[in-house]
Amino acid sequence: MSVCDNYKAVEDKVQKACERAGRARSEVTLIAVSKTKPLSMIEELLPLGVRDFGENKVQELTAKEEALQKDIRWHMIGHLQRNKVKYVVDKACMIHSVDSLRLAQEISREAVKHETMVSILIEVNVAGEESKFGVSPSETEDLVREAAKLPNIQVEGLMTIAPYVEDPEENRPVFRNLRNLSVDIGGKNIDNVNMNVLSMGMTGDYEVAIEEGATHVRVGTGIFGERNYALS
Ligand SMILES: *Cc1c(COP(=O)(O)O)cnc(C)c1O
Repeated sequence: MSVCDNYKAVEDKVQKACERAGRARSEVTLIAVSKTKPLSMIEELLPLGVRDFGENKVQELTAKEEALQKDIRWHMIGHLQRNKVKYVVDKACMIHSVDSLRLAQEISREAVKHETMVSILIEVNVAGEESKFGVSPSETEDLVREAAKLPNIQVEGLMTIAPYVEDPEENRPVFRNLRNLSVDIGGKNIDNVNMNVLSMGMTGDYEVAIEEGATHVRVGTGIFGERNYALS
């Protein structure tokens, strides 16, 4: 299977999941997670009209951004260190992985410097896994409120990385919890906060995530194949 064939197969499943959930296909952005994969594989997808790509390393995102056409939307989905914020603020269309006020403050500072607005998501560790970044559900509203006060930042919603599971149904409660948290916080009408984005669902569970309200799914392996970290 070529990258394009894989993409079309995923797109088909995204459409069917939208149908099952009674949602319009336009409500869900399929992000092709191209981390560790070469430019040539990204370029294969461009004729299909694919423009949303996800990267988890600053250096890789900026190198690919530099090399490829400017209408590509680069999503920063990986853990972000404060000292690298300056390289991505004007390159990423959205930073999905804000998990502390100090990181939000740094993004704000750099956004002001670069005279740009930065869209951010708050990363929530819904399942409370020790190995994962993200704030706990109970800390989320506070971080949203504090981040929203900072200049040149727009809080657009929430993101989670669900646990690795064999059966995607096991993650349905995780996605449902994030959705409920988002609705809850969205209902408080906090200034400068939208809860329009729910970034959740990866190769193993994106269909379930869509059924539970995901607006952005992040699919890597399902599109580009297995990653070989040893070679990258
Ligand atoms: C790598 C990665 C993905 C994609 O994972 P796959 O299982 O390959 O689809 C999604 N989200 C984040 C944050 C990632 O780091």
